[in-house]
Amino acid sequence: MKIILMGPPGAGKGTQAEVLVSKLSIPHISTGDMFRAAIKNQTSLGLKAKEYMDAGALVPDEVTIGIVEERLGEEDCRNGFLLDGFPRTVAQADALAEILARQGMTLDGVINIQVDQEKLIARLTGRRVCRQCGATYHILFSAPAQEGACDKCGGELYQRSDDSEATARNRMNVYNEQTEPLITYYKSKGVLLDIDGDQPIEAVLADIMSSLGKSL
Ligand code: ADP
Ligand code: AMP
Repeated sequence: MKIILMGPPGAGKGTQAEVLVSKLSIPHISTGDMFRAAIKNQTSLGLKAKEYMDAGALVPDEVTIGIVEERLGEEDCRNGFLLDGFPRTVAQADALAEILARQGMTLDGVINIQVDQEKLIARLTGRRVCRQCGATYHILFSAPAQEGACDKCGGELYQRSDDSEATARNRMNVYNEQTEPLITYYKSKGVLLDIDGDQPIEAVLADIMSSLGKSL
């Protein structure tokens, strides 16, 4: 399956992606994760991305489109993929359409996880991520068994630097201005699947799977 996971920052894309990619046996392509890995490895891509991410702004389209095009060209994407956090602008969506057309691929669905904005800031500021395996937690809504340690691998949990309240609010504004128009974009193409993201994590997963015509 070839799927896009859309939704505002904190909607639950990464949380759902973790399970979906294992259920559907497809690679997880998260542009945010790719940028964070590049920053950690101090590559030239990381240097370029860091200033934008720290400000809660979008990394320029030409940089972002380039890394996604390269990744989609890899062998493991031939039979499907889950894009998480890409596209985030109309220019990125247009570029993706061209890339897919060139490779003779079509999208199976664009999952749009919907959550009220006032709930999103609490989700973002309480988010914790495993430094080792990338698993996502929340200090209140999805807490690990032992504070500060990953249930899956025992790795250290950390708070993303862009999850401060001020940067999270800026990311929300950026979403409203630059990414929200993609809802109409994909609705008009008949591929949008709206999902209520304001439910327990397992219920959101069940709704996504059923919207894709898959059983859990
Ligand atoms: P995104 O990838 O869309 O930015 P995440 O998946 O990282 O969002 O989720 C943001 C935060 O909200 C995390 O701390 C996560 O544990 C929590 N979260 C995810 N889904 C839910 C949910 N359905 N209910 C409550 N909290 C959730
Ligand atoms: P995420 O991990 O999806 O929350 O993304 C974290 C940050 O990475 C964003 O706030 C942006 O700065 C950057 N980023 C991720 N994906 C994109 C994208 N598709 N276009 C531009 N910037 C992105």
